[in-house]
Amino acid sequence: MIAKTEMQDLIVVDGQARGIVTRHLITGECNVHIADAVILATGGYGNVFYLSTNAKGSNATAIWRAHRRGALFANPCFTQIHPTCIPVSGDYQSKLTLMSESLRNDGRIWLPKKKGDARPPDQIPEDERDYYLERRYPSFGNLVPRDVASRNAKTLCDEGHGVGKTGLGVYLDFSEAIKRLGEKTIRERYGNLFDMYQRITDEDPYKVPMRIFPAVHYTMGGLWVDYELQSTIPGLFVLGEANFSDHGANRLGASALMQGLSDGYFIIPNTISNYLATHKFPKVENSNPAVQEAVATVQARIDTLLSIKGKRTVDSFHRELGKIVWDDCGMARTAPGLELAIGKIRELRQEYWKNVTVPGSGDDLNESLEKAGRVSDFFELAELMCIDALHRNESCGGHFREEHQTQDGEAQRDDEHFSYVAAWGYTGPDSAPELTKEPLEFHYVHPSQRSYK
Ligand SMILES: Cc1cc2nc3c(=O)[nH]c(=O)nc-3n(C[C@H](O)[C@H](O)[C@H](O)COP(=O)(O)OP(=O)(O)OC[C@H]3O[C@@H](n4cnc5c(N)ncnc54)[C@H](O)[C@@H]3O)c2cc1C
Repeated sequence: MIAKTEMQDLIVVDGQARGIVTRHLITGECNVHIADAVILATGGYGNVFYLSTNAKGSNATAIWRAHRRGALFANPCFTQIHPTCIPVSGDYQSKLTLMSESLRNDGRIWLPKKKGDARPPDQIPEDERDYYLERRYPSFGNLVPRDVASRNAKTLCDEGHGVGKTGLGVYLDFSEAIKRLGEKTIRERYGNLFDMYQRITDEDPYKVPMRIFPAVHYTMGGLWVDYELQSTIPGLFVLGEANFSDHGANRLGASALMQGLSDGYFIIPNTISNYLATHKFPKVENSNPAVQEAVATVQARIDTLLSIKGKRTVDSFHRELGKIVWDDCGMARTAPGLELAIGKIRELRQEYWKNVTVPGSGDDLNESLEKAGRVSDFFELAELMCIDALHRNESCGGHFREEHQTQDGEAQRDDEHFSYVAAWGYTGPDSAPELTKEPLEFHYVHPSQRSYK
């Protein structure tokens, strides 16, 4: 176990993944680790949006650098937005807090019927409240899937019904459940969550409804893998949220933790041994040109980031990038919005490489430098997400294109043209990625239009 170490690049020798280059986060030392195969289990990339429910340190660097070395990146635009998060409270917030999904079992979601209604919730009579999920989806009510609950909250807040200081919030109300079941039962079921909510917002959810809003939670895209969990680079295996989970849309119904467990416990021990048994692994020395080139690439990026000495912090760039992606490649997307976003991301990336400031040196603990490397990858990934979202001219799962909705405002797929995994190849930071389509074939259970009415 090598702790406090970050993978910076993948070493590919004669087409096979044969190791990684790491940077030690305390000493700054770059090290080479040669191996017969490489497994990445480095998580999702929700922090491309700057604000997400992910841990602050989650990032895309490992998979993105592998993508730069040739691993195809599949379905980057599929993002899961979780409806039950504590709303953003200010500009200086660095992450978002998830309130468990389970709260929707007993909490009722509503908004004032009147736009801009600033009355406290207890002064809004029942007949002036819109329990919009119960109204629109009588059979599923507040338990509709995450994308549907999130989109409905967004639409109504955009129309001016939202609550709280920013207007980007909806009520999750337990008053009826407390009346029906008693406070003791609710405390037993959700006490820890209520305490957490009160600590963060200074409001008592036993007395006033919680305020919640959707937030980025999980990224379904990732490095393309086959059923052996092997990427398009032989010897590079990718597990958990870092891979693309077969088809990005599946996370609407699947469990990420179960996927991680089955990838790690059941699949990889068998498939990697197949690989090891059927391939040859000539000795690779540190002097190998591929190794030297990977180390030089890592060092050059670090040196460049330290040498720019511009005027804007890494966080200020990241926040601006995140806002572009959230606004135009978040809960709802349109072709003009995505085109605009691609242009804005490119411009901001150019400015980043001229105007970012990274204080300190590369020889010791330097969190700005760590972030600077990760944000440089987020820029390229964000652009690919928008390109993928733009090309997928349909709505599907976690990807909602406003142009493609049913009369009821629900996602409208186009299976005839888009029933495939979009796997993108890297061709350079300034050239168009190459698309490979992997058709999706359904033999037993066929996709149908979702309905929660
Ligand atoms: C708040 C929250 C609640 C959730 N609740 C649920 C739930 O109830 N059910 C469910 O199924 N899923 C849930 N999820 C999703 C699920 O937890 C994640 O999808 C899952 O943990 C991903 O596991 P992983 O092992 O693939 O990646 P991670 O758990 O993200 O682990 C990746 C690891 O790789 C490390 N790493 C990253 N980059 C590098 C690098 N370059 N070099 C070295 N190390 C690196 C990271 O530091 C991290 O330790 C939740 C997620 C969040 C954020």
